[in-house]
Amino acid sequence: MTIVIAIDGPAAAGKGTLARRVATELNLNYLDTGLLYRATGFAVLQSNEDPSDPASALKAAQNLQPADLDNDRLRDDECAQAASKVAAIQSVRDQLLAFQRSFAQTPPAGKKGSVLDGRDIGTVVCPDADVKLFVTASVAVRAERRLKELQNRGQDVIYAQVLKEMEERDARDRDRDTAPLKPAEDAILLDTSELSIEDVIAKAVKIISEKTT
Ligand code: C5P
Repeated sequence: MTIVIAIDGPAAAGKGTLARRVATELNLNYLDTGLLYRATGFAVLQSNEDPSDPASALKAAQNLQPADLDNDRLRDDECAQAASKVAAIQSVRDQLLAFQRSFAQTPPAGKKGSVLDGRDIGTVVCPDADVKLFVTASVAVRAERRLKELQNRGQDVIYAQVLKEMEERDARDRDRDTAPLKPAEDAILLDTSELSIEDVIAKAVKIISEKTT
């Protein structure tokens, strides 16, 4: 039996770190689905086109290659904003859906299953996932984490700007018509505002072990 774990939540809530560690500890294959949208947004920007334009965004999603996901520039905030614009376009989401589902259902030999993180894994991509976690934290805590991450990468950024961009992206992801950011009805909420990453991982591993054994 293939185990599928869905981890959703807003930006910088800690879901990426959590998903990677869960994958290592439970021997699961891991996909950061945000990278698919970031790489699509980045490709549109590289062509000097508008990420909100459906034709440009769909063309970029159709031409996406696995190697495109391996690019440090995808972590920049410019790509995050472009990602959330292409992600609001239904045809782009449809284009990326089959790859995500097939990744979830067909882990490589030796792996017990998959963990995917994103915004709509529990609601749309893997509605039958064995465990669904929705990871949150206050927007102030998330902006602070994101600020540190960008500063550690040598970027010259200030808190007010990071907070503003995060609020804009949250609103775009939450209020869009297609696959809006929201917990699945059967998701377990994990608020990481007051928890260390080790506490979050321990909680998640316990929940997953109880639900999958
Ligand atoms: O998770 P990350 O911050 O890398 O995601 C970048 C953007 O991609 C999000 O703000 C969201 O708009 C989009 N996204 C999505 N669905 C996913 C993963 C990411 O819409 N499953």
